[in-house]
Amino acid sequence: CGIFGIVGHGEASNLTYLGLHALQHRGQESAGIVASDGNTLRAHRQMGLVADIFTAPVIEGLPGKAAIGHVRYSTAGGSGIKNAQPLFVNYAGGQFSIAHNGNLVNAVELKAELEAEGALFQSDADTEVVMHLLARSKQPTFEARLVEALRRVEGAYSILLLTEDKLIAVRDPNGFRPLVLGKMKEGAYVLASETTALDLIEAEIVRELEPGELVVIENGVLRSSMPFKPAPRLGRCIFEHVYFAKPDSVLFGSSVYEVRKRLGMQLAREQPAEADLVIAVPDSGVPAAIGFSQASGIPYDVGLIRSHYVGRTFIEPQQSIRHFGVKLKLSAVRQVLKGKRVVVVDDSIVRGTTSRKIVKMLKAAGAVEVHLRISSPPTQWPCYYGIDTPSRTELIAASHTTEEIAKYVTADSLGYLSLEGLGTAVEDPKRSTYCTACFSGQYLTDKLSQSAGATKL
Ligand code: SF4
Ligand code: MG
Repeated sequence: CGIFGIVGHGEASNLTYLGLHALQHRGQESAGIVASDGNTLRAHRQMGLVADIFTAPVIEGLPGKAAIGHVRYSTAGGSGIKNAQPLFVNYAGGQFSIAHNGNLVNAVELKAELEAEGALFQSDADTEVVMHLLARSKQPTFEARLVEALRRVEGAYSILLLTEDKLIAVRDPNGFRPLVLGKMKEGAYVLASETTALDLIEAEIVRELEPGELVVIENGVLRSSMPFKPAPRLGRCIFEHVYFAKPDSVLFGSSVYEVRKRLGMQLAREQPAEADLVIAVPDSGVPAAIGFSQASGIPYDVGLIRSHYVGRTFIEPQQSIRHFGVKLKLSAVRQVLKGKRVVVVDDSIVRGTTSRKIVKMLKAAGAVEVHLRISSPPTQWPCYYGIDTPSRTELIAASHTTEEIAKYVTADSLGYLSLEGLGTAVEDPKRSTYCTACFSGQYLTDKLSQSAGATKL
């Protein structure tokens, strides 16, 4: 998911719309904005894409100088409108709204406990647990109630909360998901999942929130605190760099584009191939393919064209749509591929269905050899921290060797980047500040919702 918030600007919901537009790649199922005019919160949430949902009249209906927004793809709970965020409630202490990127690993237990005490849940999103805990807290201030609630949850959360008069931002102590603070020339504060959203609205990037940091912005003043027990180690999501984030963003202190290019360069060193050209699976494989080309000296060319009118295949939740999506999304350039030995670079293999179709497409377009190179290690474990990887049984690398996968996808050879290579590319060779659980099986939390055979780091 993607989150955006702004406070202290007369066009808060307009800017939130732009911010969400820049974060659309982080979720395409639903989008929402909640704005505060100082007394009342107003919400608009809808299934679909930001640009389709937020027409001028809809934005006019969201007045005020503060707003938060969310783009969603489902990791916990179904994909229906009841789970669209920001969530929004009236309770004894007033009104508040919450937008969450991440996934709570103990939400099921907490929800059962709250329901036993009489809480009525309106969604099946894990985020609602935080709202109930907050609303039930006996602490004197909103901030103290929030801290008490968050001390009970475990897992990944970058969260924005809006009350009538405050914008609050929190990042979990492991720092799984990104969250960056910015400032506009006019003095408004902005928060966003990625710097690309700040760049779009010409906000200055101030800094990333620290893992475990809580920031409150009220009456133009920003207060920061570290109210949680520090995590034993950081767990910044390495897959943000591999695939999820937009390449023009700067994330966890590194340029996503540069990291991806280094992934490709390292891949060329670890898994060389004799070939005539290097092509990418667009868009996610492009920087790594360029890196592979530069490190290997094999020329880069455009052998696959991506339709601009199809979204990210993976994020659509149904297998049936996903299958159809691959064919709609990519087409091969026969003139580039004919008679050539081709290295094709992609960021990851999940189920293997995309790769298989791509290899077949390249061969049908005349490629004589297809060498598939993947700019991350085999995806063997599900993510419980906010990326929608399927269950272990669906992950092809969980039950098949690289040779078996190569055969399945009909590639002449297949090579993955090593875990060590991944660490080198993010300039953390020991991977001591990153989560790599989907590749290594080394999870950072005790609870894992429904894990089988996973180890805690
Ligand atoms: Fe990111 Fe993978 Fe860790 Fe999930 S398991 S947070 S996708 S690195
Ligand atoms: Mg891709």
